[in-house]
Amino acid sequence: MTLEERIRMVRERIAQAAREAGRDPADITLEAATKVQTSETIRAAIAAGITVCGENRVQELTAHLDDYAYDGARVHFIGHLQTNKVRFVVGRVDLIESVDSPRLLEAVDRQAARLGLVQDILLEVNIAREESKGGCLPEDLSALAQQAQALEHVRLRGIMSIPPVAAFPGENRGFFAQTRQLFVDIRNKMGDNDSDINCLSMGMSGDYEDAVREGATLVRVGTALFGPRPPMHP
Ligand SMILES: *Cc1c(COP(=O)(O)O)cnc(C)c1O
Repeated sequence: MTLEERIRMVRERIAQAAREAGRDPADITLEAATKVQTSETIRAAIAAGITVCGENRVQELTAHLDDYAYDGARVHFIGHLQTNKVRFVVGRVDLIESVDSPRLLEAVDRQAARLGLVQDILLEVNIAREESKGGCLPEDLSALAQQAQALEHVRLRGIMSIPPVAAFPGENRGFFAQTRQLFVDIRNKMGDNDSDINCLSMGMSGDYEDAVREGATLVRVGTALFGPRPPMHP
């Protein structure tokens, strides 16, 4: 299959899962997770209709920005972000999906203030409480959201989660449902500003249909679009 055909197939599956759940397929955005892809592949994906690219690593983000590889699409940062690297990301991406601590939140706000802009962010929640994963614990999400709302140079747009790799179809549905519940709670708590909080990022190649059934508005798909990746280096 060509890249175009894979994009069409994933879109079709998203639409099918949405319809089954009584949702409008137009309410779900397909984000291409572009880690390890070349600028050329990213351009091909955008030419084939991809409108959002998600980048994991600061180094790859910087290289692709220098190459104008994302022209014509929006860019999100979806990887673990160290506070000493925020200057390479803030103001350069449309959305940072992986803010997960008070310290990182403050660093993003400070850098955005320096640049005189407001950075859109999601809070990442470690929904399965995995030791090896980023994201705040579910019980810390509300305080983090309140902190975000109080800062002038970040705008909270929603939440993101990365459940474990599913061993069988349907395994992550419970985690997606829990993530959605946290999202709804945060929206309700945040009162007046809730119109800004409309992004629920969850679902990857192995489980995006379940994520859509449970309310995802943004699914981050790599392998199903680009094929298997070589093993990651540290
Ligand atoms: C790599 C990655 C994805 C996509 O993973 P696939 O299983 O290849 O679809 C989604 N989200 C994040 C944060 C990732 O790092």
